[in-house]
Amino acid sequence: MLDAPTNRPDLPPEIARRRTFAIISHPDAGKTTLTEKFLLYGGAIQMAGQVRAKGEARRTRSDFMQMEKDRGISVSASAMSFDYGKYRFNLVDTPGHSDFSEDTYRTLTAVDAAIMVIDGAKGVESQTQKLFEVCRLRDLPILTFCNKMDRESRDTFEIIDEIQEMLAIDVTPASWPIGQGRDFLGCYDMLNNRLELMDRADRNRVAESIRIEGLDDPKLAQHVPEHLLEKLLEEVEMARELLPALDPQSVLEGHMTPIWFGSAINSFGVKELMDGIGTYGPEPQVQAAEPRKIAPEEPKVAGFVFKVQANMDPKHRDRVAFVRLASGHFQRGMKLLHVRSKKPMAVSNPVLFLAADRELAEEAWAGDIIGIPNHGQLRIGDTLTEGEPLRVTGIPSFAPELLKVCRAGDPMKAKHLDKALMQFAEEGAAKVFKPLMGAGFIVGVVGALQFEVLASRIELEYGLPVRFEPSQFTSARWVHGDKPAVEAFTQKNKQHMATDNDGDVVYMTRLQWDIDRVARDHPELTLSATKEMQ
Ligand code: GDP
Repeated sequence: MLDAPTNRPDLPPEIARRRTFAIISHPDAGKTTLTEKFLLYGGAIQMAGQVRAKGEARRTRSDFMQMEKDRGISVSASAMSFDYGKYRFNLVDTPGHSDFSEDTYRTLTAVDAAIMVIDGAKGVESQTQKLFEVCRLRDLPILTFCNKMDRESRDTFEIIDEIQEMLAIDVTPASWPIGQGRDFLGCYDMLNNRLELMDRADRNRVAESIRIEGLDDPKLAQHVPEHLLEKLLEEVEMARELLPALDPQSVLEGHMTPIWFGSAINSFGVKELMDGIGTYGPEPQVQAAEPRKIAPEEPKVAGFVFKVQANMDPKHRDRVAFVRLASGHFQRGMKLLHVRSKKPMAVSNPVLFLAADRELAEEAWAGDIIGIPNHGQLRIGDTLTEGEPLRVTGIPSFAPELLKVCRAGDPMKAKHLDKALMQFAEEGAAKVFKPLMGAGFIVGVVGALQFEVLASRIELEYGLPVRFEPSQFTSARWVHGDKPAVEAFTQKNKQHMATDNDGDVVYMTRLQWDIDRVARDHPELTLSATKEMQ
C-alpha cells in the first residue's frame, strides 16, 4: 500500500498528489516498453502492447506518420495522465530522436522530474547524456531505471560508477540486482530491506513478486542459489560502505539520483520505480515567471504553452496547445487572460490526455497538462492567467544548426507556402526567416531529418510540393540592442539580415568568423543563439 503523499502537507491534496515527469533515454533503451508498463500498473490499459498498437493505428493515417514508422522514430510528443495508488501521474512523452531535440528541451520545461532509462549493457549513451545536461540546467530531480537486466549486462558497480563519472551526479542504489542475463532473479530492495523476485510467467501482466523479509531470512536460500546469494550479500555490504545513502533533499535538488534495476519487458522493477516517483519525485514546483514567480498552491490558475501540435486530426485544421498548469484549480469553461495579446480566452473544450485517448477536461490542477484546441492564437511560451499579466520565463528557442532555402514546387502556389511555413514556425517545428533582400524563405532546423518531415507535411497538409535548396548561410543569431543601433546594423549588413516569424531581427551567418566580427566591431549589440519564446 502506498502512503499518502505527505512531502508537502501544506499543498492542497489534489496538487500534492501530482507527479509530472518525462522519461529521458537513448533510443532503444526501453522507454516505450516502460511507458506501457506504467500505464498497465496505472490501470490505464489492460494489456501491454496497446501504446504501440494505438500508435500504429494513428500512424497509418498519413504518410508523414508512415515516415515515423519506417524510421522507427516518434516525431510527436504527447502527454498521458493516470492514477497510481494515491498519486496522479502526468507523463509527458519526449521524442527520442536527436533530430528533434529542441522539442524535447521544451518538453522538459513542463515537468518536475525526469526518469532516466539506461540499458544495462550499454550504460550512459550519447542521447541520454545530452538530455541529462538539459535536466541539469534546471536542476530537475532525476530517478534512474537500469533496464534489460534479463540480458547480459555490465557489472552493477561499473554501471553506477559510469553514471557518477559521466554525469557528475551522486548515485544511490534503491535496489540491487541478483544475477543478470538468464540468471537474473530479481532485486534486493535496498530501501525497504526485502527481496523482490521476478515471475517470468506472463510478461503482459502485473507480476506478483515473491517477498522475503531481510537478508538473513532463511527462506532466501530456497529462492536464491548459493553462488548468487553469496555475491549479493557481498555486493550489498560493499554498496552500503562505498555508495552514498539516499538523501531525499539531495534528490530533490538534482544532486543525487536513486537507481532501480529491472526489466521493463518482464514488468520487473517497474512498480518499485513508480513507488519511488511517488515518494521522491516532487510535487508541482514553483514556476519561474516575470514579474514574480508562480507557486502551485496559488488559488488562481496560471499556465504556459510548451508545445503546439497542428493537425493532430488531419480532417480538422486544428491545433492543440499543450499547457502546463503552474497554479490553481482549472475548470472547464473558465475565461483566462492570454497575456501576450491581452485578450480573454474562454477555454470551453480543453482536453486531458488520459492514457492514449483524448478526453474532455472538466477540471485540472497545478501540475497537469491540458490540451487547448485553437486556431493559432496560442504559441509556444504563451502564458494564460486569471487576469494577472504574468509571463512564464525559461522556455528556450534555439538557433537552428542547419539552414535551407524553401521554394514552392508550383510557383502559382507560393502564397500558400508562406502560410504553411508560418504555421510550422509557430508550432516550433522549424525556424522560418524572411531575408531582407531577395525572395523566398530560409528554413532552419536543429536536425536534418526535419527537412524531410516538413516537406512531407507541407505536401500532405497543404497539397503543396516544396523543394529545399542549399543556402549560403549556416547559422542564425538573434540581434539584441537599442533600436537605433539594431537598425543601423541592419542597414549596413542587408545581405545578412532577416526577420523571424515574430518579426524579430536575425543576423544570418556563414562562418563563426561572422559572429566574432560582430562581437568585435559592435560592442553595443549582442548576438544570441537562443531566444526566449514569448
Ligand atoms: P525505446 O526506443 O527506448 O522506446 O525502446 P523500446 O521500449 O521500443 O525497446 C527497444 C527494444 O528493447 C524492444 O525490442 C523491446 O522489446 C526491448 N526491450 C525493452 N525492455 C526490455 C527488457 O527489459 N529486456 C529485454 N530483453 N528487452 C527489452
